[in-house]
Amino acid sequence: MFKPVSSKVSFPELEKHTLEFWKGRKILQKTNEVRQGGPEFVLYDGPPTVNGNPGIHHVLSRIYKDVIPRYKTMKGYRVFRKAGWDTHGLPVELEVEKELKFNNKAQIEEYGIAKFNAKCRESVLRYLKKWEELTDRIGFWLDMEHPYITFDTGYVESCWWIIKQLWERGLVYQGYRVTPHCPRCGTSLSSHEVAQGYEDAEDPSIYIRFRLSRDAQNPSAKALPKLGWNVQANKWEQEVPALLAWTTTPWTLTGNIALAVSPKEDYALVQSRSPQGTTERLIMARALLDRALGSGNWEILAEFTGRDVSGLQYDRLYEPKPEFVPAGDKLPPHSRVVTADYVSVSDGTGIVHIAPAFGEEDFDLGKVAGLPMVQSVDLDGKMIPNGKAWDGKFVKKADPMILEDLEQRGILHHQEKIVHTYPFCWRCHTPLLYYAKPSWYIKTTAFRDQMVSGNRDINWYPDYIKEGRFGDWLEHNIDWGLSRERYWGTPLPIWRCGRDPGHMECVGGIQELKAKPNVTGIVDPVDPHRPFVDEIGFDCGKCGGKMKRAPEVLDAWFDSGAMPLAQFHYPFEDKAEFETRFPADYITEGIDQTRGWFYTLHALSILLFGKPCFKNVVCLGHIVDVKGEKMSKTKGNVIDPWKIINNQGADALRWYMFTTSPAGNVKRLSVDQVTEAMRKVLSTVWNTYSFFVIYANIDQFDPVKAKRPATTDELDRWIISELHQLIDEVDKAYTNYDPTEAGRKIEEFVDYLSNWYVRRNRRRFWKGENDTDKLSAYFALYECLVTLSKLMAPLTPFLSEELYQNLVRAVDPQAPESVHLSDFPKADLSRVDEKLEADTRLVMKVCSIGRAARSKAGIKVRQPVPVVIVKTRTKSEQESLRCLAPQILEELNVKALEFAEPDVDLAGQSCYCTIEDGGCVVAVPTEIPAELLEEGIAREIVHRIQNMRRNAGFEIADYIVTYYQAEPSLQKAIESQSAYIKQETLSKELLNQPPAEGAFSEKARIEGREVTLGVKKLAT
Ligand SMILES: [Zn+2]
Ligand SMILES: [Zn+2]
Repeated sequence: MFKPVSSKVSFPELEKHTLEFWKGRKILQKTNEVRQGGPEFVLYDGPPTVNGNPGIHHVLSRIYKDVIPRYKTMKGYRVFRKAGWDTHGLPVELEVEKELKFNNKAQIEEYGIAKFNAKCRESVLRYLKKWEELTDRIGFWLDMEHPYITFDTGYVESCWWIIKQLWERGLVYQGYRVTPHCPRCGTSLSSHEVAQGYEDAEDPSIYIRFRLSRDAQNPSAKALPKLGWNVQANKWEQEVPALLAWTTTPWTLTGNIALAVSPKEDYALVQSRSPQGTTERLIMARALLDRALGSGNWEILAEFTGRDVSGLQYDRLYEPKPEFVPAGDKLPPHSRVVTADYVSVSDGTGIVHIAPAFGEEDFDLGKVAGLPMVQSVDLDGKMIPNGKAWDGKFVKKADPMILEDLEQRGILHHQEKIVHTYPFCWRCHTPLLYYAKPSWYIKTTAFRDQMVSGNRDINWYPDYIKEGRFGDWLEHNIDWGLSRERYWGTPLPIWRCGRDPGHMECVGGIQELKAKPNVTGIVDPVDPHRPFVDEIGFDCGKCGGKMKRAPEVLDAWFDSGAMPLAQFHYPFEDKAEFETRFPADYITEGIDQTRGWFYTLHALSILLFGKPCFKNVVCLGHIVDVKGEKMSKTKGNVIDPWKIINNQGADALRWYMFTTSPAGNVKRLSVDQVTEAMRKVLSTVWNTYSFFVIYANIDQFDPVKAKRPATTDELDRWIISELHQLIDEVDKAYTNYDPTEAGRKIEEFVDYLSNWYVRRNRRRFWKGENDTDKLSAYFALYECLVTLSKLMAPLTPFLSEELYQNLVRAVDPQAPESVHLSDFPKADLSRVDEKLEADTRLVMKVCSIGRAARSKAGIKVRQPVPVVIVKTRTKSEQESLRCLAPQILEELNVKALEFAEPDVDLAGQSCYCTIEDGGCVVAVPTEIPAELLEEGIAREIVHRIQNMRRNAGFEIADYIVTYYQAEPSLQKAIESQSAYIKQETLSKELLNQPPAEGAFSEKARIEGREVTLGVKKLAT
């Protein structure tokens, strides 16, 4: 006997019981025990940053990490699935800063780095619990008992070891370069971080006059005579002209040291009426005169190329303090015009203002042209005091003050506003500054070709990511900006000599550090974090000076990219653990990780081992709300995963996420959509299952002891054929890392099973005698449900387990203990009959058209019809329908099936109501004979009695007495059909009298006529 099953079910309740069962029986651990000796399937868990509660998009990546390993287990693999937690980095620090209400680094230093980092550790440990809870509840099977945590000493040590390998090969360097810098966070960002933070921004767009120097000009500037400079007399003979330049960042003007022109383009000296109402002489690109000065508001006085104005000297707008210029750079008395190929005449004035401290191109140009650097802004993004109104102000706040100053001094020509995309800090949304400062890099560009060719060995799902998003990213690779001027991270393991900063040593492990000459500051056990590691010093191997650690920490993406090795504390512990699990078979994350974790994994693996560290990767699309909008706290459209898990259940959420769209597509999500998916599929499976259990228990069907009869029944053969076709397709879909396809195929089958097979077969389960025909139906439905529980197990692990436990384990204690320990079903293609499948689909189509025709003719569902006439497209379709005629007769509630020849016009006959669909026509008569009307009434009565039985709480197998009282015409119909009514309703007697004492009774109207019905259970 199966455990009794209610047709009503609470999936969240059921799931809680399943979780207890899994835990109590240690099913997760047993997945590897039962597959001992099998091949290993390796999942690398991309570590989520545990700096907040997990959100709905995290559920998506976590269930994708679960579905393939579950499938592989059922296919005989031992699955390696170690959990990983990303615990370092700016996001964690920001969370703690928020908690402590800090705004800048000075407050952290004042608070104390040791205390601050302890807070960071506490914070991640607190959130980690939340992550574990969610992971557990959504059924993501992961080894959380032996996780890797990026702040663990061993993990950090492995990171050091990797840096040292790269250091020894000359791949780590410190460069004075312009880096994207977040002034709020006080640190550089890597290009992959910058790529994640572009936003639209409104900025001033200003045109500024740079007056040529009155007293000194460099005679090598060829355009000088045309501008009115007397070369012999060395003086101006006309009014001194100005160069008109354009910028969107006024604050950078305080660092201006040159103006750049395109050497090839045409430039002009023009006379123009200024916006201030005066006449002036300006130099700019010829092609932009109309746009910059206004149409017609200029007259060309002279023309020349950009090369001809190179060398012109102009007066600086702001004189820097000497300390703004780094040692070694020399500030000339005048600034000058230089040429640069990248200058275009597509916008602005064709004259670009150059501040080498604030732009990558500017910095590079400065190197080529020998320009000094002027650093007028500090690392917090504040203007360094220079006796101006904006001293100490944040650069964006300084902008309007600088504009006002320029306007008063007659330097501002005019200003506009511009909306452009500008990079913001992906974490704190502060506009990034491009800022020249020393920073540490990994020379990834030296391995660009190897990274590109290594990518060829990786299977990407969807496949267009490979050459597209990821391939592009690799092609345009720049060196990895590795260091962060922060606190909570893996410290950069580089020590520097106090006597000669050129003496540097990279330390590849803790023992190595302890063994350094005259080492000081070691406290056992060594905590490799700041500030403790900063205290450790030793003697310089070259000059005997004291070595001190460089203060930076590593980009947290380095930590996660190092996980293939660091999760095993490689090479300090059992090396084989790593070696046998490299590369991974499978990884999956959101599509944005092409520039994040996917990249850092790939880069480190190529640099260290020359080959990729993952074979298959599934990229997941973003989740948006039902209108297609991004979910955000400000919009208030964020969906809490727990809300769905607690109401609809984890399986419902999983099912919806897997099937709504392929992995790489954007996914719309709403509570209603999840409910609908649950109703359509999971509830349908449940209803079919509860139907089976109820009848199987009544008939004491035992799938283990009973002998399965050879079946000739068309419906049984058909559903088994569909089932084995399904096994084959679902198996292939999972193998191709495509749970969406697997789910969609299952959904189609569930519809066939419930809405055709079971519905068409109710009578076989219902009938009194236990014959081979009934047994055949039980076996077919049983096989479908058991197989379905296994096919669905990777997608909906809870529901599958529930079905399996009752259908399989309840009758066969020898069977595997869990559906997740059972073997994946094998398709028996000899049981597939494609012709029968096609024929049955045709029958379903004809029935669907026929139902529409009946409804068009206004015939009630329970009213039998004498005949249905079908016109098919081909003779062979007619033959197919003839063979399966009983299904059509019953489904359409008709007495006879006839076929019309192709030349007959059914639609033209008034006694029929017809509907045509796809070349197939179905006609039903509009007139019903009297004896069929009586039969219709009888069926209506049966339907009412069945409802009453249910409402009275009778068991399906209970025998009853039925009472009725009705007006004569109804009474006549009931009497003539009494045998049928009694049989259908398990009525031992059908009595024309008022309901007896204790009967359950109801009044009803049938065809406008009143009837009183009563039912009473017979004592058993
Ligand atoms: Zn920031
Ligand atoms: Zn030294």
